Amino acid sequence: MTTIVFVGLGNMGGPMAANLVKAGHTVRGFDLSDASLAAAARSGVATVRSLDDAIADADCVITMLPKGAHVLSVWSELCGLVADDTLLIDCSTIDVDSARKAHELAKGCACPSLDAPVSGGTGGATAGTLTFMAGGSAEAFRRAEPLLSVMGRKVVHCGDAGAGQAAKICNNMILGISMIGVCEAFTLGEKLGLSHQALFDVASTSSGQCWSLTSYCPVPGPVPASPANNGYKPGFAATLMLKDLMLAQEAALSAGAATPLGAQAAQLYGLFDKAGNGSRDFSAIIEMLRGGSDG
Ligand code: NAD
Repeated sequence: MTTIVFVGLGNMGGPMAANLVKAGHTVRGFDLSDASLAAAARSGVATVRSLDDAIADADCVITMLPKGAHVLSVWSELCGLVADDTLLIDCSTIDVDSARKAHELAKGCACPSLDAPVSGGTGGATAGTLTFMAGGSAEAFRRAEPLLSVMGRKVVHCGDAGAGQAAKICNNMILGISMIGVCEAFTLGEKLGLSHQALFDVASTSSGQCWSLTSYCPVPGPVPASPANNGYKPGFAATLMLKDLMLAQEAALSAGAATPLGAQAAQLYGLFDKAGNGSRDFSAIIEMLRGGSDG
């Protein structure tokens, strides 16, 4: 049994912490929001009002926060409180540069650290079926893997500091671009008088096949479980897709990589978000591409 401090008990962190409790670990939870603390307490998390009391004897601290600035602020604070050799894991989706700075902070307080963002959304967080992509030393990964396996089904060590965030934004850039491609194909098919099912039956078994088509089809019908059948209720909200595409653009600029289709996808999701669609599923962008939901 491990004593874990979990910081950030929101839509993702709440259920992830609950799964650690279910697996028999002692979990102390901290969040700025009373509602998040109350929900975590209902699932057996011992909630605390400040990090000072919670951290000194912890074996591991996990953060699940909105952005890089939040992670750096919390890690700066906790690095002044933790005992040497406490395992520090950040599961938030943040920019690669901030992730590397967090690893530096951990090094400064003699703690092994991992960036370990996830895919799988709130459904995966609740079911314990997330995919973790981890960056950090082999030793930090060895120690973290049993805990991450409680919260996820697949845990991949992607490389050194920042490699988990790099894998996450590269994957989600593919997803954003491929979803727009699939939406454009359905929009063109509609104008050409092709039924959704006919295009699906051909493309899903031909070279146009991809996850955005076969698992997450943006039109109702062919894939009954996709958000298109449920009024585009997320799923994966467009605002989160925009966040990840912007992180990919920041990383591309910083690393000097050309990602013109990623840039185009970021702009289209930016327009979609600006038109009030941020809380809808990201596949609803088909409505804007048809010329429907753009303002
Ligand atoms: P959320 O907004 O529901 O939760 C974030 C929590 O952090 C909130 O409860 C907030 O009060 C708390 N918080 C903020 N600053 C804090 C601080 N300084 N100290 C303590 N608590 C603080 O967000 P979420 O949906 O749980 O997402 C968390 C991270 O996971 C984000 O980086 C997001 O991009 C990533 N992510 C989300 C999803 C998803 O489907 N929601 C999927 C994959 C990855």
